[in-house]
Amino acid sequence: MTEALLEVRDVTSGYGRLAVLHDVSLDIKLGEIVAMIGSNGAGKTTLMMTICGRPRAAAGRILFDGRDITRMPTHEIAGLRIAQSPEGRRIFPRMTVLENLQMGAIIADAPDAFNEDLEKVCTLFPVLKKRRDQRGGTLSGGEQQMLAIARALMGRPKLLLLDEPSLGLAPLVVKQIFEAIKELNSKHGLTVFLVEQNAYHTLKLADRGYVMVNGRITMSGTGRELLERQDVRAAYLEGGAGVVQGGSP
Ligand code: ATP
Repeated sequence: MTEALLEVRDVTSGYGRLAVLHDVSLDIKLGEIVAMIGSNGAGKTTLMMTICGRPRAAAGRILFDGRDITRMPTHEIAGLRIAQSPEGRRIFPRMTVLENLQMGAIIADAPDAFNEDLEKVCTLFPVLKKRRDQRGGTLSGGEQQMLAIARALMGRPKLLLLDEPSLGLAPLVVKQIFEAIKELNSKHGLTVFLVEQNAYHTLKLADRGYVMVNGRITMSGTGRELLERQDVRAAYLEGGAGVVQGGSP
């Protein structure tokens, strides 16, 4: 069995007295696409943020590449090449596309590779080349999402964390984004952790997936296994309210 690149062990986390995650455990192996699906407010974003060190895990351990990062400062975690493309995209709206990408490249600390990396992300998302001198805030929602992913990629990540990349986007754009994620994984071997409410596309794409309900992982399996489960379909695919009754990890 391949060793895990990221191991989350019995992690509890939240905001002040509000506990959001309860004993969450999961593994992401090198070269995998792993998905976390769950409804609004389940705690998916909190998990992703906790991996990045803010908020901090109140209990449990997080290991990356064999190193304990549970108490590591956030900038050091980022320095290990865990890149995050956060929910809501959070690009720099007043900076141009190129400047956004330059910001992303800082963490890579590889100035000689900048042009090559820029070419790679522009091949992945050709619209960014066309828009390179346009301010980020003037891009469409889909273009901003592409820019957010591209900016994360400029940091040469070992692990890419994507929080709801399909949120609010038209179906055609969602398809484009998911195809790009697939290509990054299959062609470039990038390990991806994808958090989504869009269960269908996500589970189709993912090697493995987890379901989160009220801050707990209630199910896990291959993407296909989860996609075929009647309770998952009912809750997340057939107009369900995002609540899975029962379910075992
Ligand atoms: P969504 O898809 O809606 O973003 P989610 O599964 O990502 O949902 P979280 O954003 O992690 O869920 O939210 C989980 C819970 O934590 C919610 O009850 C939310 O109100 C709360 N929460 C999130 N961020 C904060 C914060 N900064 N301070 C206090 N509570 C928060």
